[in-house]
Amino acid sequence: MIKYEYVWLDGYKPEPFLRSKVKVTRETTPPDWSFDGSSTQQAEGGSSDCLLLPVTEYTNPLYGDKLVMCQVQTGEHETHPTNTRAAAAEVASDEWWFGFEQEYFLTNPDGTILGWEDGIPEKPQGEYYCGVGAANVKGRDISEAHLEACLEAGIELTGTNAEVALGQWEYQCLGKGIKAGDDLWMSRYLLHKVAEDFDVSVNIHPKPQSGDWNGSGMHTNFSNKEMRENGTEELYSTMCDKLGEVHQDAIANYGSDNDQRLTGLHETQKITDFSYGVSDRGASIRIPIYTVEHNWNGYLEDRRPASNADPYKIINHIVGTLTK
Ligand code: MG
Repeated sequence: MIKYEYVWLDGYKPEPFLRSKVKVTRETTPPDWSFDGSSTQQAEGGSSDCLLLPVTEYTNPLYGDKLVMCQVQTGEHETHPTNTRAAAAEVASDEWWFGFEQEYFLTNPDGTILGWEDGIPEKPQGEYYCGVGAANVKGRDISEAHLEACLEAGIELTGTNAEVALGQWEYQCLGKGIKAGDDLWMSRYLLHKVAEDFDVSVNIHPKPQSGDWNGSGMHTNFSNKEMRENGTEELYSTMCDKLGEVHQDAIANYGSDNDQRLTGLHETQKITDFSYGVSDRGASIRIPIYTVEHNWNGYLEDRRPASNADPYKIINHIVGTLTK
């Protein structure tokens, strides 16, 4: 018998939560399945079946045999209104590469951030980023266990680090085409599950702690074949200008409460403004020095997405805008 752990996105607003359940079967590929959509804000009670269609399979590093990322259909076999993957899958060919920098806070079950149990930490920001030592870092064992789990699953994490605020972490997740979105969602699922073992929760709100503390973002590095192999300064400028024309659209797709994070402080541009520049971490889009030094063959970094953004929506916005 094979144990498949099906994972999908529910219908909660403004951002969906992850759901999962386990199927035990002799079938060697995971079959379509169903669930009670009235319990996930995806259907009414009178007609509550929604369908789960497997899209990507992973080795399950934590339990059973396979993790299965699914997309949701209505009971009538139509794309469910909450299925943001479908639109992204139509535009995102595998020549598009995405490197998501997922930032997050770790909290106790009551919501307090690890290390903040007695209130605001005495030391201001400064020594926590990439820090070491019990006074500077909280939750390293979770970050490390999560990295191992993702690599075992076949999700390409390219690094992790302790972030600017105490109890805040980041990992970088690289993927191609629509699978980049599947991988990021599955990496979040594994993070929640790994943290469960430590009785710790994961908070991906973009500004869980107000005041002079960094928020959490999900900087999105991206490139297509032309940007990597045949780039020019003009190509990059044209792309940035195109993205600037639909800045409001981007903000609508880049996560809720992002106005609390994009203030113009803490290495961000204001949410109302759009700018781009070489090496500029105060810009909406940064042109990395790597790109310039490689004769304009490289990638761009969109610094606007919040940590709670849906990667499918980000992919759809960027590729949809640049291939129009
Ligand atoms: Mg970071």
